[in-house]
Amino acid sequence: MALASYCDQTSIIEEIKLILKDKRNIVLCWVKSHVGISGNEIADSLAKEATRRETIDINIKFSKRWLKNHFQRVIKERWQQRWEFSLKARYTYGLMPQVSTKRCFGDFYINQFLTGHGVFPVYQMRFFGKNDICHVGRDQGTITHYLYGCPTFNQIRQGYFPSNFVNLGLLELISLPKVRVGLRLMGQFLLQKCLD
Ligand SMILES: [Zn+2]
Repeated sequence: MALASYCDQTSIIEEIKLILKDKRNIVLCWVKSHVGISGNEIADSLAKEATRRETIDINIKFSKRWLKNHFQRVIKERWQQRWEFSLKARYTYGLMPQVSTKRCFGDFYINQFLTGHGVFPVYQMRFFGKNDICHVGRDQGTITHYLYGCPTFNQIRQGYFPSNFVNLGLLELISLPKVRVGLRLMGQFLLQKCLD
């Protein structure tokens, strides 16, 4: 309720707070509407009367909280639109089509898997013209190849991945702490291969 809020700085609310400040015999409480409570009926008819007036004599400013919520929503909607219509990072978009301020991946190696950037041969070919084949020459060096297939990482998969890992998507795998350790080891290995 606006009157109970310290943050609400709408002028009419400020005025009411000022009036009520020294009047300790006035208690504010919620009442049911349209059941014949006289004060509420009067307030109702005054409100109706006000809607018939041609001019507006009280200009209620938006509260800080309302503005904050409103702009947060607008910014998020625009962010979502940009994310949907961008031509970049479509692999990551496929993993996370919805934008979120609550999601944060801060790990350098895990982020390689989430973006497809950096250490993977297919990326190295796109940006630096290097060979896109996995270093053991079995297949293209894609994220999927290293996650699920490359024999180089059999031991890491056995040690850190659950036995049903082939049925799990990347986000499901990343949600498991032990898998994240395995992915970091894979990332470190692949980074070293890029630098060799
Ligand atoms: Zn391989």
